[in-house]
Amino acid sequence: MTERRQLIETAIEMNRCGINQGTSGNLSIRHEDGLLITPSGMPYSRLEPDDIVFVDGQREFHGPRLPSSEWRIHHDIYQARTDCSAILHAHPTDCAALACLQEPIPAFHYMVAVAGGHDIRCAPYATFGSQALSNHVLEALTGRQACLMANHGQIATGFNLESALKLSELVEELAHWHWGALAIGGPKLLSQKQMDEVLTAFATYGQQDKRKDLAAGNRLDEAQ
Ligand SMILES: [Zn+2]
Repeated sequence: MTERRQLIETAIEMNRCGINQGTSGNLSIRHEDGLLITPSGMPYSRLEPDDIVFVDGQREFHGPRLPSSEWRIHHDIYQARTDCSAILHAHPTDCAALACLQEPIPAFHYMVAVAGGHDIRCAPYATFGSQALSNHVLEALTGRQACLMANHGQIATGFNLESALKLSELVEELAHWHWGALAIGGPKLLSQKQMDEVLTAFATYGQQDKRKDLAAGNRLDEAQ
């Protein structure tokens, strides 16, 4: 399957699994000196490979369509982070709800470490599609593979489309649990030391590449 076809299939799966609704999200993979990204405002089920937009390293668009309005976020992450080859942005219900608190998801559950640290940050609010929003997201992703976006949604990165989708689903699951814990009086948080132990365990799990393990948090969870 070509990269463009993989992108379309994963975009359709993003809606099928409930991470995204309609055309609000967007998806990309690293390509040459830039990225391939879903176009703006087109239903994923109607996409053809030529509808996928190539945005090169100089921010020029190639193809008959305009890229998603959030192409800056994708472009800036690929330029700054060599550890990521796929990016998913969506408005999953529980992440979007928590993001309206403008607060990080704290260490309320050990699987929070799957995003790479002691919490999952929430990037400050800025208008969708703006350079300011991209700057905020890049900062919130420092040392992390995912973050919330205040009053907006979620970003997840990965080594490939599959791992980005898996991490996005995991973060949405965590947001659902945290939402529930907040609703019944608020969670008791894990300590720095307890989270350090989880991060160390994730980093040394199995013989596989550390970041692949982090991106495949479900397998870590099941293996325990
Ligand atoms: Zn959005």
